[in-house]
Parts: sequence; C-alpha cells; structure tokens
Amino acid sequence: MLARFLLLLALFIVIARTLWRFIEAVVRGASGPFDSAQGRPPAAAVKMSQCPVCGTYVVPGKAISVVSGGSPIYFDSEKCRAEYQSR
Ligand SMILES: [Zn+2]
Repeated sequence: MLARFLLLLALFIVIARTLWRFIEAVVRGASGPFDSAQGRPPAAAVKMSQCPVCGTYVVPGKAISVVSGGSPIYFDSEKCRAEYQSR
C-alpha cells in the first residue's frame, strides 16, 4: 500500500517536473524574441560610421575602410570606395 503510494508520488513528481520544464521552455520561447528585440538598441548604439558616398550607416569593424588624412573612412561596399577614390 505504502509502496504504491510512493510510486504514485514519484510518478507525480516526474510528471510535474516535465510539465514545469515545458512551461519554462514556453515562457522562455515567448520572452526570447522580446529579449533580443530589447537587446537591439545597445547593438545599434555601437558607434557607426556613415558611408560618404551613399550615406549608408556601416559598422566600422565590418566595413571597408580607407585611411585618408590620418583618420579612417568607412564604406559599405567596394563600389562606394572606388567611387570615393575616383573623385
Ligand atoms: Zn556607400
């Protein structure tokens, strides 16, 4: 009798845990995109540079750069760099 009760109790705990993990995953999944959306403004706040040719904002770390007069100029594409240099 007691063994059966303990078995049911163990089963209940396992089911409750599984259910809780599922709920937790759903809550995380629902808040996930929201969190990443909130994380965007700081990412966008990274100092950005403007392409002098077309005006597109570029991240200096990923942009094509040309050092002109001691300070780097960042371009969004090779095309813009070529255009700037041909001026
Ligand atoms: Zn450009």
